[in-house]
Amino acid sequence: MSGNENNSPRPRVLSGMRPTGKLHLGNYMGALANWVKLQDAYECYFFIADWHALTTDYADPSQIVPNTMDVILDYLAAGLDPEKSVLFLQSRVLQHAELALLLGMSTPLGWLERVPSYKEMQENLANKDLTTYGFLGYPVLMAADILIYQADFVPVGQDQQAHVELTREVARRFNSFYKLNGREVLPEPKVLLTPSPKLPGTDGRKMSKSYGNTILITDPEPVVRQKLKTMVTDPARIRRSDPGDPDKCPVGDLHKVFSTPETLMKVYEGCRSAGIGCIECKGWAADALVKILQPIQERRAGFSESQAKEILFEGSRRAQVRAEQTMVEVRNAMQMTLTTVDE
Ligand code: SF4
Repeated sequence: MSGNENNSPRPRVLSGMRPTGKLHLGNYMGALANWVKLQDAYECYFFIADWHALTTDYADPSQIVPNTMDVILDYLAAGLDPEKSVLFLQSRVLQHAELALLLGMSTPLGWLERVPSYKEMQENLANKDLTTYGFLGYPVLMAADILIYQADFVPVGQDQQAHVELTREVARRFNSFYKLNGREVLPEPKVLLTPSPKLPGTDGRKMSKSYGNTILITDPEPVVRQKLKTMVTDPARIRRSDPGDPDKCPVGDLHKVFSTPETLMKVYEGCRSAGIGCIECKGWAADALVKILQPIQERRAGFSESQAKEILFEGSRRAQVRAEQTMVEVRNAMQMTLTTVDE
């Protein structure tokens, strides 16, 4: 394993999120809750990818800073601990940009054009002109984000494995051209598959900010209850007397993730026999969500914006130190080493 700033023997993990605003339960269950668990077993770097936000929002960057503040507060609220993990902001670690530029020299264009999300996002965000160099190159920046920490693992859900695979290819190609005293500089990171339970939004589709169907981790109890009330249910249950099936109902899916086995049993029995109404069932789901969200919201209230900002700055300083260690090796391996007499 590669060296690191505090010589921790634990394997190193890197992951991040784009600052798109307040995080929702899907973000929490699919990523944050897993990251919190990783903190004790791994040396963790978690970042906010504000440059990645620019790849799609370059025409109007006005929300990136407020969104960044929301995300760092949500990281802290979820239980990411700056004493255990390095929490940092991508744009404050300039080495990411330097490595992305250098990796871009050897990354074939065809690899980027073939990334499935490239075409998909261009179609989904048809109101934005994404025929830009920055958007095409975002997987190279992502590779730099990971490789600069010589990360051993990247925790991702099933659907993001392709990105880590591309990062491995970028590293392999770099290593085939450049070595430092015969040694490879950029280890290929492995996927750390994290469980991401099926989490429907209020309209039954996957919970996603772009569908406007989210339950935010900052939503107060009355808002959670209101959102649940409007949530779609098993379409076969038209009248109160019609039996339903929790396996065909988004509210049933929420119960499977958040409710106790006892409540889940009551849901299955009551729904299939039409013994309970959907309003009652949704109330139980809301109870379970509120129970999960309460400690998160209490923790969030314990941090001021200025404290959160200072945590992000301090984490960025630590990240810079670690990133620079890799860059010294990269520059040497690439023979970009002309120095002045003072250096
Ligand atoms: S009782 Fe619950 S699980 Fe059954 S259809 Fe209504 S909301 Fe869905």
